Amino acid sequence: MFQRLTPALFLVAALTAQDDPGTTFAYRIPVALGPIRAAALEAGFDLAHGRANDPDLLVYVLPGAEHDAFLRLFPEAQLVARGSPYAGGGGLDVPDAAYYTTAEIVAEIDALVLAHPTLARRVDVTTLPGAARTHANQSIWALVVSDSVTQAEDEPAVLLAAQHHARELNSPHMVLRAAQRVLAGHGVDPALTALVDETELWFVPCVNPDGVDHVWNVDQLWRKNRRNNGANYGVDPNRNYPTHWGACGSSTTTSSETYRGPSAGSEPEVRSMRALVASIRPEIYLDFHSYGQQVLFPYAPCTTAGATVQAFLDRYVDDLRAPMSYGRRLPSASGEAPEDHWTSSGTLSFLIEVGTAFQPAFATTVAEEARVWPGIRRALTAWRPALRGHVRSVRFGTPLEATLTYTPATFSYGEVTRSRAGDGRYALWLPLGTWQVTATAPGHDSVTRSVTVTTLDTPQTFEFELMPSLPPATLTKSGSERVGTAVTLTYTAPGDAGRTYWIPLSAGTVPGFAIGNRLLPLNADGLMELSLGATPLLAGNLGVLPGNAQGVATLNIPPLPAIVGVAFFAGGITFETGYAYGIERWAPPVPIVIQP
Ligand SMILES: [Zn+2]
Repeated sequence: MFQRLTPALFLVAALTAQDDPGTTFAYRIPVALGPIRAAALEAGFDLAHGRANDPDLLVYVLPGAEHDAFLRLFPEAQLVARGSPYAGGGGLDVPDAAYYTTAEIVAEIDALVLAHPTLARRVDVTTLPGAARTHANQSIWALVVSDSVTQAEDEPAVLLAAQHHARELNSPHMVLRAAQRVLAGHGVDPALTALVDETELWFVPCVNPDGVDHVWNVDQLWRKNRRNNGANYGVDPNRNYPTHWGACGSSTTTSSETYRGPSAGSEPEVRSMRALVASIRPEIYLDFHSYGQQVLFPYAPCTTAGATVQAFLDRYVDDLRAPMSYGRRLPSASGEAPEDHWTSSGTLSFLIEVGTAFQPAFATTVAEEARVWPGIRRALTAWRPALRGHVRSVRFGTPLEATLTYTPATFSYGEVTRSRAGDGRYALWLPLGTWQVTATAPGHDSVTRSVTVTTLDTPQTFEFELMPSLPPATLTKSGSERVGTAVTLTYTAPGDAGRTYWIPLSAGTVPGFAIGNRLLPLNADGLMELSLGATPLLAGNLGVLPGNAQGVATLNIPPLPAIVGVAFFAGGITFETGYAYGIERWAPPVPIVIQP
C-alpha cells in the first residue's frame, strides 16, 4: 500500500502527478493539528479511515476548488500519491488481477446462474420502476438466490451490496463470495439450506460500475460516480441518499470527494438501489465498503436515534461485529444508504468497512472475507424482525404498500416501515416492550393492534386487513314501536348507490358474526334468518340502493299484547363483490323494544 512508500517512490509519484491533472491526490499531514484545524479536516475532507492526527491517515482530494481549499488550510500537507490506472500497473499499488473488473463481476454472476439454474438468476436493477441506468448508460446487476428462484415468491428478502465507492476493490469480493457460500451450502448446510428455501437473497456486488471502470482505466483512487459536473466529474453516491441529505459530512463543491449531488437522490445508482429496496422491502441490508474493520451505526453524527432505538440498534451492531472481531463507529455523514433504508423502509441496515486498505494484495482480501463471513452468516441466519405478515385490503385481499409505525413514539424523524406493493409483505423491527402498531395505506382506514415483544429474533405473525375508507353508514328508526303500528327503518350508505342492501333483524349483538377479521355486531340467529326475505312483518328489507343511497324498510308490529317488552335489534348492511361473505360494510344496529 501507498502508506508504506519509500522516499524514492514518493518522488516518482510526485513527478507522475504533473502529467495527470484529472486524478485523485492522496496527502499526508505530517504535523500535529490543533483541535480547530483537526475538526476542519474531519468535517470538510475525505479521510478514508481514521481521524485527524492518526499517523496512517491519508486525505483524498480532487483537483479544483477542493484542492485549492485544502492547500490553503493545510499548506504543510505532503503529496503521497496520485491516481493512475489500476490496470496499467503504473500506480503505487501493485495491481492484482484477481480483483473484479465490472465485466468480471457480470461474468461471475453469470457463472453462478449457470451452475445453479434453479437457485440463482440475474436481474438488472436499473430496469425496476423508478430506477435509472448509470451516467455512462450501464446496468447495475443483482444476483438473486432462492429456491424456485424464477418465481416471485412470498418470502422475506435480504440485500447485500458493495462498491458505492469505486476504489474499494475489496468490497465486492465480500458480496460475491457470500453468494458463492450460500449457493454451495444449499442442501449441505442446514442453516444455509433453510436460508435459501425461506428467503429471497439479493446480492449487488457493484453499485457504481462507472466509477469502477474509471478506477481500472484512469485513476485507481477514484471514489465517486461519473456524473459530468461541467468543470469536473462525480457525485459521492453514499452522500446522495435523501434521508437528511446534506445535513452533515458532505460537500456542495462539485470537485469534492464527498460532493452530495445537485439534489437528494439525484444519482442513478441511488435511485436504482432505492427502487430495489422499495420493490423487495428487505428485512436486512448490509452495505460493504472499505476500509477500517468496523461496523457503522446507521444514524449519522448529526442525527439521533433516541435511547430505545439506540439500544436496539447497538445490540445488532455488536451482534454483527462480534463474529468478525470488528470495531464500531458512527457514519461519517448523512445521506448514506443505511440510514435511508432504515428510515424510509424499516430495513435493519448496517455499513461494514472491511479490511485495512482499498486494494491490498488479493490474498489479504481472501483472508479478510473469511473473517467477515461469520458476521454475515450470523445476520442472515439468526436475525428476525419482531412482527411479520402482510397488509392487504379487506376488498379482494389486494396487497397494499402500507406504512407501519408504532407508539409510544421512539423516533424523531418520521422513520417508518413499509410493506411491499407486490404482495403486501412487511417486516417490522420492534425493540423489547409493548407497542401499538398501526398500518396505514391510501384509501383505507388504519388498523392498530397491540404487540408485546419479550424476545428478539422471534417473529410473531399478524395479517393487517384494511377497510377501504367509506363515509359512515347509518340506520335510523321512526315510529312509536307500539303493538299494531309500523316502524320505518332507513339505512343510509353514502357512495353505495346501485349496491344491494339488507336490513336484517337479530335478537342480539353479542357475540356477533365474524366477517374475516371484522366483527358484524349482529348474531346469526333465527330472527336474522327470518328477515332474509320479505314477509308481512318486514317489507323493503332487501333491495338495491337508489340514487340517494337510502334503503327503507317497514317493520309491521303485530297487534299482539303478548309481544310487549320483546327487545331486538335492526341492522343495515351493504353487499359488494370482493369482501368476505360479500359484505362491504354495515351501520351500527339500533335497538327496538315493543311498547304496549
Ligand atoms: Zn466507501
